[in-house]
Amino acid sequence: MADSIYIADCEFGRGVFAARAIRKGESILRYRGPRFEREDPIHHTERAAMLLQTGARTYILPDSPAVLVNHSCAPNAGLVENRLLVAIADIQPGEQVTFDYSTTMDDGIWTLECRCGHHECRGVVRDFRHLPERLRARYLAMGIVQGFIARQYRQRSEAAGGFADAASA
Ligand SMILES: [Zn+2]
Repeated sequence: MADSIYIADCEFGRGVFAARAIRKGESILRYRGPRFEREDPIHHTERAAMLLQTGARTYILPDSPAVLVNHSCAPNAGLVENRLLVAIADIQPGEQVTFDYSTTMDDGIWTLECRCGHHECRGVVRDFRHLPERLRARYLAMGIVQGFIARQYRQRSEAAGGFADAASA
């Protein structure tokens, strides 16, 4: 595990916390794990909640500690290149590391009741398309939306063709 984080209990079970100050822009951890397709039976098990969507029809089941990173509607980290968790704000020692699961979700099959407690909590975590437009634009501008989702929005605003995702699923 990276020296910048540790695993600890939290109100949602376990979570990933900053072991030291982590600066905005710093890489925190990389998601790795076996790959699953859209039709795999795992989607009908409780492990479905652990899957990270990496493509329109592909997922990975992340290894620890990545699998323990919790959702927040007011996150301090985000995923770039489909796999790499980076800080999007300065994170204090002892603070829980979170990202917004909606930045990785676009399958219409999975939602999460959120109790993150933030005053802007959306209540239910749903696919990216359901986010408020301003929040979508903000996440897209920050580059922390999975490539297979972000591509759909780029195609709306730019002429088609030419774009190739550096780290596709
Ligand atoms: Zn929330």
